[in-house]
Amino acid sequence: MTNRPLNFYDLVETLPEPGCAICTLVERDTARFLDSHLYEYVNTPETHAAMRASRGLCATHSAQLVDYGAQVLGIAILHAAILDELLKQAAVPRSSSRLGRLRGNGETVAGRFEASGRCMACEAMERAEHQHVRALAGHIHEAKLKAAFEQSEGLCLPHFRLVLEAAPDAPRHDLLLQMQVEKWRGLKAELETFAEKYDINHAGRAMGAEADSWRRALRLVSGAAGVFGVRRK
Ligand SMILES: [Zn+2]
Ligand SMILES: [Zn+2]
Repeated sequence: MTNRPLNFYDLVETLPEPGCAICTLVERDTARFLDSHLYEYVNTPETHAAMRASRGLCATHSAQLVDYGAQVLGIAILHAAILDELLKQAAVPRSSSRLGRLRGNGETVAGRFEASGRCMACEAMERAEHQHVRALAGHIHEAKLKAAFEQSEGLCLPHFRLVLEAAPDAPRHDLLLQMQVEKWRGLKAELETFAEKYDINHAGRAMGAEADSWRRALRLVSGAAGVFGVRRK
Protein backbone atom coordinates (compact mmCIF):
# COMPACT_ATOMS: atom_id res chain seq x y z
CA MET A 1 0.00 0.00 0.00
CA THR A 2 1.53 3.27 -1.08
CA ASN A 3 1.72 6.03 1.44
CA ARG A 4 -0.11 8.86 -0.27
CA PRO A 5 0.70 12.45 0.73
CA LEU A 6 -2.15 14.74 1.74
CA ASN A 7 -2.03 16.63 -1.54
CA PHE A 8 -2.42 13.50 -3.70
CA TYR A 9 -6.13 14.16 -4.27
CA ASP A 10 -5.53 17.89 -4.77
CA LEU A 11 -3.40 16.91 -7.74
CA VAL A 12 -5.93 14.33 -8.98
CA GLU A 13 -8.69 16.96 -8.87
CA THR A 14 -6.67 19.86 -10.27
CA LEU A 15 -4.83 18.19 -13.15
CA PRO A 16 -7.88 17.97 -15.45
CA GLU A 17 -8.55 21.70 -15.01
CA PRO A 18 -7.10 24.24 -17.47
CA GLY A 19 -3.46 25.26 -16.95
CA CYS A 20 -0.54 23.71 -15.08
CA ALA A 21 -1.89 21.97 -11.96
CA ILE A 22 1.17 22.84 -9.90
CA CYS A 23 0.85 26.54 -10.81
CA THR A 24 -2.84 26.41 -9.83
CA LEU A 25 -2.21 24.67 -6.50
CA VAL A 26 0.74 26.91 -5.63
CA GLU A 27 -1.36 30.02 -6.34
CA ARG A 28 -4.19 28.62 -4.21
CA ASP A 29 -1.86 27.75 -1.32
CA THR A 30 -0.18 31.16 -1.43
CA ALA A 31 -3.55 32.93 -1.39
CA ARG A 32 -4.55 30.84 1.65
CA PHE A 33 -1.27 31.68 3.35
CA LEU A 34 -1.79 35.42 2.84
CA ASP A 35 -5.37 35.12 3.99
CA SER A 36 -4.51 33.23 7.17
CA HIS A 37 -1.65 35.56 8.04
CA LEU A 38 -3.92 38.53 7.85
CA TYR A 39 -6.64 36.89 9.93
CA GLU A 40 -5.14 34.44 12.36
CA TYR A 41 -1.50 35.36 12.73
CA VAL A 42 -1.53 39.12 12.41
CA ASN A 43 -0.84 39.56 16.10
CA THR A 44 1.69 36.80 16.66
CA PRO A 45 5.23 37.92 17.50
CA GLU A 46 6.58 35.59 14.77
CA THR A 47 4.60 37.30 12.02
CA HIS A 48 5.60 40.74 13.23
CA ALA A 49 9.27 39.80 13.48
CA ALA A 50 9.25 38.23 10.02
CA MET A 51 7.50 41.21 8.42
CA ARG A 52 9.86 43.65 10.10
CA ALA A 53 12.89 41.67 8.93
CA SER A 54 11.67 41.23 5.34
CA ARG A 55 10.49 44.86 5.13
CA GLY A 56 7.09 43.62 4.07
CA LEU A 57 6.21 41.38 1.18
CA CYS A 58 7.48 41.52 -2.40
CA ALA A 59 5.56 43.89 -4.67
CA THR A 60 3.57 41.07 -6.30
CA HIS A 61 2.33 39.64 -3.01
CA SER A 62 1.69 43.12 -1.61
CA ALA A 63 -0.52 43.79 -4.62
CA GLN A 64 -2.39 40.54 -3.90
CA LEU A 65 -3.14 41.78 -0.40
CA VAL A 66 -5.24 44.53 -1.91
CA ASP A 67 -7.62 41.76 -3.04
CA TYR A 68 -8.30 40.96 0.60
CA GLY A 69 -10.15 44.19 1.12
CA ALA A 70 -11.98 42.87 4.16
CA GLN A 71 -8.70 42.47 5.98
CA VAL A 72 -7.40 46.00 5.77
CA LEU A 73 -6.97 46.03 9.54
CA GLY A 74 -4.37 43.25 9.31
CA ILE A 75 -2.53 45.10 6.54
CA ALA A 76 -2.57 48.30 8.60
CA ILE A 77 -1.28 46.60 11.78
CA LEU A 78 1.57 44.80 10.01
CA HIS A 79 2.64 47.83 8.01
CA ALA A 80 2.63 50.07 11.08
CA ALA A 81 5.13 47.56 12.54
CA ILE A 82 7.30 47.70 9.40
CA LEU A 83 7.35 51.50 9.47
CA ASP A 84 8.15 51.39 13.19
CA GLU A 85 11.15 49.22 12.34
CA LEU A 86 12.31 51.61 9.58
CA LEU A 87 11.97 54.59 11.93
CA LYS A 88 14.01 52.76 14.56
CA GLN A 89 16.75 52.14 12.02
CA ALA A 90 16.60 55.75 10.85
CA ALA A 91 17.13 56.93 14.44
CA VAL A 92 20.37 54.94 14.97
CA PRO A 93 23.11 57.58 15.06
CA ARG A 94 25.84 57.25 12.43
CA SER A 95 29.24 56.77 14.02
CA SER A 96 31.66 59.56 13.17
CA SER A 97 34.20 57.11 11.73
CA ARG A 98 31.63 56.07 9.14
CA LEU A 99 30.52 59.59 8.42
CA GLY A 100 30.42 60.09 4.69
CA ARG A 101 30.46 56.37 3.84
CA LEU A 102 27.33 56.09 1.82
CA ARG A 103 27.92 52.74 0.18
CA GLY A 104 29.69 49.52 1.01
CA ASN A 105 29.22 46.63 3.38
CA GLY A 106 25.75 47.20 4.77
CA GLU A 107 26.97 49.51 7.51
CA THR A 108 25.67 52.49 5.63
CA VAL A 109 22.33 54.12 6.33
CA ALA A 110 20.91 52.54 3.17
CA GLY A 111 22.18 49.18 4.40
CA ARG A 112 20.21 49.44 7.63
CA PHE A 113 17.00 49.59 5.64
CA GLU A 114 17.83 46.46 3.71
CA ALA A 115 15.66 43.39 4.29
CA SER A 116 17.24 40.59 6.31
CA GLY A 117 14.50 38.09 5.51
CA ARG A 118 12.62 37.05 2.39
CA CYS A 119 9.00 37.77 1.51
CA MET A 120 6.94 35.37 3.68
CA ALA A 121 4.52 34.65 0.85
CA CYS A 122 7.35 33.80 -1.56
CA GLU A 123 8.72 31.38 1.03
CA ALA A 124 5.27 29.82 1.53
CA MET A 125 4.96 29.55 -2.24
CA GLU A 126 8.22 27.65 -2.53
CA ARG A 127 7.27 25.26 0.27
CA ALA A 128 3.96 24.51 -1.45
CA GLU A 129 5.66 24.07 -4.81
CA HIS A 130 8.16 21.62 -3.35
CA GLN A 131 5.37 19.49 -1.86
CA HIS A 132 3.33 19.34 -5.05
CA VAL A 133 6.38 18.60 -7.20
CA ARG A 134 7.43 15.76 -4.89
CA ALA A 135 3.93 14.27 -4.69
CA LEU A 136 3.45 14.31 -8.44
CA ALA A 137 6.88 12.87 -9.20
CA GLY A 138 6.61 10.21 -6.52
CA HIS A 139 3.10 8.97 -7.29
CA ILE A 140 2.72 9.43 -11.04
CA HIS A 141 2.70 5.66 -11.57
CA GLU A 142 -0.52 5.33 -9.53
CA ALA A 143 -3.55 4.84 -11.77
CA LYS A 144 -5.59 7.76 -10.41
CA LEU A 145 -2.81 10.30 -10.77
CA LYS A 146 -1.71 8.96 -14.13
CA ALA A 147 -5.28 9.18 -15.47
CA ALA A 148 -5.60 12.73 -14.15
CA PHE A 149 -2.33 13.71 -15.87
CA GLU A 150 -3.60 12.22 -19.12
CA GLN A 151 -6.67 14.48 -18.90
CA SER A 152 -4.54 17.55 -18.22
CA GLU A 153 -2.97 20.14 -20.51
CA GLY A 154 0.40 19.04 -19.13
CA LEU A 155 2.65 20.98 -16.79
CA CYS A 156 4.25 24.33 -17.50
CA LEU A 157 7.86 23.99 -18.58
CA PRO A 158 9.47 25.23 -15.33
CA HIS A 159 7.34 22.85 -13.23
CA PHE A 160 7.82 19.97 -15.62
CA ARG A 161 11.59 20.33 -15.24
CA LEU A 162 11.28 20.34 -11.44
CA VAL A 163 9.03 17.27 -11.51
CA LEU A 164 11.42 15.40 -13.82
CA GLU A 165 14.32 16.20 -11.52
CA ALA A 166 12.32 14.96 -8.53
CA ALA A 167 11.38 11.63 -10.13
CA PRO A 168 12.67 8.95 -7.75
CA ASP A 169 13.49 6.35 -10.44
CA ALA A 170 13.79 5.78 -14.18
CA PRO A 171 10.27 4.33 -14.75
CA ARG A 172 8.57 7.34 -13.16
CA HIS A 173 10.94 9.75 -14.93
CA ASP A 174 10.23 8.14 -18.29
CA LEU A 175 6.48 7.97 -17.72
CA LEU A 176 6.40 11.70 -16.94
CA LEU A 177 8.50 12.48 -19.97
CA GLN A 178 6.34 10.37 -22.26
CA MET A 179 3.09 11.91 -21.02
CA GLN A 180 4.36 15.49 -21.24
CA VAL A 181 5.78 14.91 -24.73
CA GLU A 182 2.28 13.78 -25.80
CA LYS A 183 0.90 17.09 -24.54
CA TRP A 184 3.54 19.07 -26.41
CA ARG A 185 2.86 17.12 -29.61
CA GLY A 186 -0.87 17.67 -29.38
CA LEU A 187 -0.51 21.38 -28.68
CA LYS A 188 2.04 21.89 -31.45
CA ALA A 189 -0.39 20.32 -33.94
CA GLU A 190 -3.18 22.57 -32.69
CA LEU A 191 -1.00 25.67 -33.02
CA GLU A 192 -0.12 24.70 -36.58
CA THR A 193 -3.78 24.18 -37.46
CA PHE A 194 -4.58 27.52 -35.83
CA ALA A 195 -1.87 29.30 -37.82
CA GLU A 196 -3.07 27.66 -41.04
CA LYS A 197 -6.69 28.66 -40.52
CA TYR A 198 -5.64 32.15 -39.48
CA ASP A 199 -3.86 32.57 -42.77
CA ILE A 200 -5.76 34.81 -45.17
CA ASN A 201 -5.74 32.15 -47.89
CA HIS A 202 -7.76 29.86 -45.70
CA ALA A 203 -10.19 32.45 -44.41
CA GLY A 204 -13.59 30.97 -43.81
CA ARG A 205 -12.42 27.68 -42.31
CA ALA A 206 -14.09 27.51 -38.93
CA MET A 207 -11.86 27.32 -35.88
CA GLY A 208 -12.24 24.30 -33.65
CA ALA A 209 -10.70 23.50 -30.29
CA GLU A 210 -7.44 25.07 -31.54
CA ALA A 211 -8.99 28.56 -31.30
CA ASP A 212 -7.46 29.17 -27.88
CA SER A 213 -4.34 27.04 -28.43
CA TRP A 214 -2.13 30.16 -28.44
CA ARG A 215 -3.44 31.02 -24.97
CA ARG A 216 -2.78 27.51 -23.67
CA ALA A 217 0.68 27.61 -25.23
CA LEU A 218 1.56 30.77 -23.33
CA ARG A 219 0.84 29.16 -19.96
CA LEU A 220 2.29 25.79 -20.90
CA VAL A 221 5.61 27.32 -21.84
CA SER A 222 5.93 30.10 -19.27
CA GLY A 223 3.80 29.07 -16.27
CA ALA A 224 1.42 31.29 -14.28
CA ALA A 225 2.43 34.90 -13.66
CA GLY A 226 1.45 34.56 -10.00
CA VAL A 227 4.08 31.84 -9.59
CA PHE A 228 6.90 32.82 -11.94
CA GLY A 229 6.40 36.56 -12.18
CA VAL A 230 7.64 37.13 -8.63
CA ARG A 231 10.68 36.10 -6.59
CA ARG A 232 12.57 39.30 -6.39
CA LYS A 233 12.65 40.13 -2.72
ZN1 LIG B 1 3.40 25.38 -13.45
ZN1 LIG C 1 6.51 37.40 -2.44
